[in-house]
Amino acid sequence: MRVIPPSFEILDDYFKEGKVLEQIERCGRVCYKSEDKITPESAIPFIKGIIKRGHESVIEMANFVFEVESKEREEFFSFFENIPRFCQASNLGESKYLISGNPRSFRDLAKRFPENQVIIAIRDEIFKKYPIFFEDIETGALKKEVSARMLSPTEIDALDTGLLVKHRCLLAHITVNRAVTHELVRHRVASYLQESQRYCRYGEERFGGEVQFIRPCFFEEGSKEYELWEEAMKRTEALYLELLKTSSPQAARTVLPNSCKTEIMVHATLEEWQHIFRLRASKAADPSMREIMLMMLPEFERRFPKVFSPVRKALEQG
Ligand SMILES: Cc1cc2nc3c(=O)[nH]c(=O)nc-3n(C[C@H](O)[C@H](O)[C@H](O)COP(=O)(O)OP(=O)(O)OC[C@H]3O[C@@H](n4cnc5c(N)ncnc54)[C@H](O)[C@@H]3O)c2cc1C
Repeated sequence: MRVIPPSFEILDDYFKEGKVLEQIERCGRVCYKSEDKITPESAIPFIKGIIKRGHESVIEMANFVFEVESKEREEFFSFFENIPRFCQASNLGESKYLISGNPRSFRDLAKRFPENQVIIAIRDEIFKKYPIFFEDIETGALKKEVSARMLSPTEIDALDTGLLVKHRCLLAHITVNRAVTHELVRHRVASYLQESQRYCRYGEERFGGEVQFIRPCFFEEGSKEYELWEEAMKRTEALYLELLKTSSPQAARTVLPNSCKTEIMVHATLEEWQHIFRLRASKAADPSMREIMLMMLPEFERRFPKVFSPVRKALEQG
């Protein structure tokens, strides 16, 4: 058994370097803990397999932002009549909108509304760079004067704060216990991928043949309470490993506790991250959740001071 502290990593270089497919693969592989299989050529076959198996939450882990222009007002009206909750839109005036969403959201739109000109313009723009997202979906042709242009990472980061918080996403790789991830995934306006206890067999050598637990923030090491906790984890691990001799990981995991270490990828707009910090770094939050949120907030603030300084200040004022 191993006891580790909670930790996190912001994975923003993929976005800044325009490595959309690599970012998606990196996130998807957290489920299976198969990051060691990543090679310079592995992203496309990995994503193809994901789409084929219908595990499309994996392709939520990237975000595209478009400037869409149309003199044909009714094309926008028809788009907004059908817009799913997973796209963001801002009116820029002069028949222009900023529209953003992840590959899955645009795939779903293209499947449901194959003749909508705004969707076709966006689809065409994605297809030019990343055909993999639309190889299996038929849409109509662009007939009207509608255009969509994908913004570069630099253009997105230059958006004014009001637009930035709505359209810029940030990806975090967080290592915490299972109770914390259970609370995190309640935030609905975000995308998640989490290490799977169904696929990961912790008895295997690649996991060191042991179960990892997150050090509880409640008990001081060496205290009687910590010893009791440690004893419970040792016994649980022994039972889990014993069950694995005759059962699958999904069966054996039924004895694993909340303290079990897990990794989760969280991909959300800056606006949703603000909301998460407001709720989860507050004094009312679960201390284990608050512990990781207070570790993360300074790093978010360093990257986007205008967005996260007001959140930190409000939290400090209680
Ligand atoms: C201190 C604390 C204690 C908690 N205790 C409990 C508990 O005892 N039991 C429990 O079940 N949960 C509990 N929760 C979880 C809580 O109820 C929320 O599910 C969680 O915090 C997600 O936040 P949210 O609902 O504000 O918004 P998110 O899901 O993060 O969504 C962001 C925003 O989008 C909008 N939104 C999203 N989905 C919808 C929707 N379907 N309809 C309308 N608007 C929507 C809202 O404006 C929302 O503020 C607790 C949370 C905290 C912080």
